[in-house]
Amino acid sequence: MACRRVAPKHELHRLAADSGGEVVLDPAATRPGRGAYVCGPACHVEAVRRRAYQRAFRRTVTISDLDLS
Ligand SMILES: [Zn+2]
Repeated sequence: MACRRVAPKHELHRLAADSGGEVVLDPAATRPGRGAYVCGPACHVEAVRRRAYQRAFRRTVTISDLDLS
């Protein structure tokens, strides 16, 4: 998870990489492979800043790649 906030799992958004390498929301947690969890829009921004996605997905994710609002 991108932040160190302790949140119940149902409050987290699961992100996964699709077959084209794009990072997408995975609400049903059905996509295989690498995943990452964020708890909200601010958390997503933080994850981009800290390059947490780069570690999780081995690609660069920008703030505009994902809209959690
Ligand atoms: Zn968070």
